[in-house]
Amino acid sequence: METFGALDGPGIRYVLFLQGCPLRCVYCHNPDSWCVQGGQEIGSADVVRDILRYKSFLKKGGVTLSGGEPLMQPEFAAAIIEGCIDNGIHTAIDTSGGVSLLLCRKPVELADLLLLDIKAADDQLYRRITGHSIDNPLDILAERERMGKPVWIRHVLVPGLTLDDSQLNKLGKLLQHYSCIERVELLPFHKMGEYKWEQLGEKYTLSQTQPPKPEEVEQAREILRRFGLQVK
Ligand code: SF4
Repeated sequence: METFGALDGPGIRYVLFLQGCPLRCVYCHNPDSWCVQGGQEIGSADVVRDILRYKSFLKKGGVTLSGGEPLMQPEFAAAIIEGCIDNGIHTAIDTSGGVSLLLCRKPVELADLLLLDIKAADDQLYRRITGHSIDNPLDILAERERMGKPVWIRHVLVPGLTLDDSQLNKLGKLLQHYSCIERVELLPFHKMGEYKWEQLGEKYTLSQTQPPKPEEVEQAREILRRFGLQVK
């Protein structure tokens, strides 16, 4: 739990990090969140009670469910969101969309805002980064579009993988068709989680990759803006 988060959605937010993730992104900075075991067990009613202690601070912000992958616990996520709705608190889900919509439709439909990580537009590259196909996040995006509910796209810029003009053009072409997308946030790759991979005995393949330069990030923003997207 983080009670004054300012990075995951609008305003000051209560951020809840849920344990477990089905993806294995090569640049993950939280590999300790992959395993579904671990974390702290807590009921949704207790979480909502805790959130309400901070209600006055969350007026212009709200609550964000993050992870790991919050949609791996769809009933729990939905129950917390419903508790927030009952109390007039804005809700967001920060997700990779790596769960079938058949399993997570309820929280996807309930949340006021979806922060959806699209790792790549190209299925081959998406599989190379995550080990999975791009189908699930695209189904979730289509569902939000059908409902007319807002989505902020997040995309990590990794030199040698996604920081590439042709890949960014593919991303722009894909995203330009969705009117539910309010903004695109480009996140520069960093290696702050590398030590966690070592601790877990996992092989980190990006040791030699450097974070992108500010001008490269700005150039990537410009490419996406050409598709009429609001890029941060
Ligand atoms: S979706 Fe997020 S938590 Fe899961 S592996 Fe990818 S970067 Fe890590």
